Amino acid sequence: MNRYGIDIWGDDNFIIDKDVVRLNYESKPALIDIVKTIRDEGNTGPLILRFPHITKKQIEKLYGIFNDTIEEYKYASKFYAVFPLKVNQLPNYILPMLENSSHLNYGLEAGSKAELLLAMAYNNKNAPITVNGFKDKEMITLGFIAKNQGHNITLTIEGLNELETIIDVHNELQIPCPSIGLRVRLHSSGSGTWAKSGGIDAKFGLSSTEILEAFDMLKRNNLVDSLKMIHFHIGSAMEAIAPLKKALKESGHIYAELIKMGATSLDAINIGGGLAVEYSAYERVTQYSLKEFASDVLFTLNDIASKNGVKVPNIFTESGRFISAPSSVLIAPTLELFTSEYNETNLRLKEKNPPIIEELNLLYRDINNENAKEYMHDSLEHLESVLTLFDLGYVDLKDRSNAEVLTHLIIKKAISLKDHRNDKELRNLDNKIQEKYLLNFSIFQSLPDFWGINQEFPVMPLSHLDKKGTRSANIWDITCDSDGEIPFDSRKPLYLHDIDLTQEDYFLGFFLVGAYQDILGMKHNLFSSPSEVNIIFEDGKMKLDKFLKSQSIIEIFDDLDYNSADILERLLSTTQEEHLKDILMDYINDNSYLKTIAIKG
Ligand SMILES: *Cc1c(COP(=O)(O)O)cnc(C)c1O
Repeated sequence: MNRYGIDIWGDDNFIIDKDVVRLNYESKPALIDIVKTIRDEGNTGPLILRFPHITKKQIEKLYGIFNDTIEEYKYASKFYAVFPLKVNQLPNYILPMLENSSHLNYGLEAGSKAELLLAMAYNNKNAPITVNGFKDKEMITLGFIAKNQGHNITLTIEGLNELETIIDVHNELQIPCPSIGLRVRLHSSGSGTWAKSGGIDAKFGLSSTEILEAFDMLKRNNLVDSLKMIHFHIGSAMEAIAPLKKALKESGHIYAELIKMGATSLDAINIGGGLAVEYSAYERVTQYSLKEFASDVLFTLNDIASKNGVKVPNIFTESGRFISAPSSVLIAPTLELFTSEYNETNLRLKEKNPPIIEELNLLYRDINNENAKEYMHDSLEHLESVLTLFDLGYVDLKDRSNAEVLTHLIIKKAISLKDHRNDKELRNLDNKIQEKYLLNFSIFQSLPDFWGINQEFPVMPLSHLDKKGTRSANIWDITCDSDGEIPFDSRKPLYLHDIDLTQEDYFLGFFLVGAYQDILGMKHNLFSSPSEVNIIFEDGKMKLDKFLKSQSIIEIFDDLDYNSADILERLLSTTQEEHLKDILMDYINDNSYLKTIAIKG
């Protein structure tokens, strides 16, 4: 049995029960049963399952641990959190999340005008809104409108020009100013793949000189009372905690200095996002716990505040990945197995074979525990020779095929012998003989971070978990792009099962895909977002909620600004037969994913 690393990345959200993986919640449905129910209604492509209760659990964990630690340290200020919309803006995700977190006053973070408008429309009443990123006059004006609507909103400025614009808009509109935050450009930089957000050469934030200048500008314009927050964000997926501590010290001192200079309303430090998610199925990468994280934040800020004789700041966090990643699972059906596994029936030996083939055949017959390595090396050499002889025209295609099959059989036989089972060289060769699993999905649409930045996602079959997978697996998607592949990696090997797809289905689940993947996904080859559904529970009973069908081909044409009526007209007017027109209409009103091969028998 292989647990596919679930004990490392699973966080008890899922359990393996005999042969299947189940949701570890309420009635504990098996994922494969959920998938079958949805497929029975004609939705055969890839599928995204969203679990709102997991998002809720993450939010409650974040608040719970921070609030407990606040009590433990007798920390004299409060904890606030917002969800950064850029991590997942989809209504099926955001709306249940807000509903499930209103008791905690969970807010939203916006990084663009579009996101800010969403936050203004849907934010939990009285919960905070924070605004980051580059802003123009319109975005700043929206901030004033939000404040006017009664939102508790903070505009964090990334540069002095933004503050100038705030002052201009304030003078023009003559309505109260939103709270102002200063994003500090940290001297210390972050860790992890996305560390570019911190450091002296960072894209965002004010230098210490600019902070002093900003404070002077606020004073000159009677806006010191609006300065409420110091903000930093050292980057996503922090693996270690040391960079956070440095950033806390730096920003904590800036906070204390500004108060001492007269920033009397300044009362908050926003520590940005960056809490890591454990994606690895092989060994833990994250080097800290949430408890340690909270303790470090509170301890450091308490220390700085007391040494400087200022009030401890309220703490805001904007962690997104931590909140949303575990809540979505991508399910992709296997369409085909392309095997490069040979057996003896693949041999096409002739009455009379070239001597080198006879030699290979003898190696195969006579290989044993003592001579295995030697024979295996000989066979590889012979194979090289046969390939050269083929290029020169001395052996034919049948001979070449026999050489390939025999060499393969020799490697397989060698590895089956008792002294050689764990031989590194043999294992490496064996790993190269991979099974290709063709999955009905697009990596570009559904795992864009794998394609873009080699982000690892845990993957596991939904069934057969009582048997050990033995095939070294290479995953292919259905795009016509050679990057649409998750190659076998012997350092992080994925072994899957040998399946007869004419007899049964085989689904792979990709876990922790709820952060960033949905909106970064692209329609390469015009594959749309998979169908998706929220799995909720009412009185302990599972319910499929907010089912959203994958976009049809004609809807994609519309999105690309084709005139879809014109397309239909062209297709139908050139088709004579009515029943062929019907087929065309059926297909164009469905999505692009392949229809799984029918199960026989
Ligand atoms: C992206 C971003 C976040 C969220 O980061 P995660 O790594 O997803 O927690 C928070 N704050 C700001 C300013 C960001 O740009």
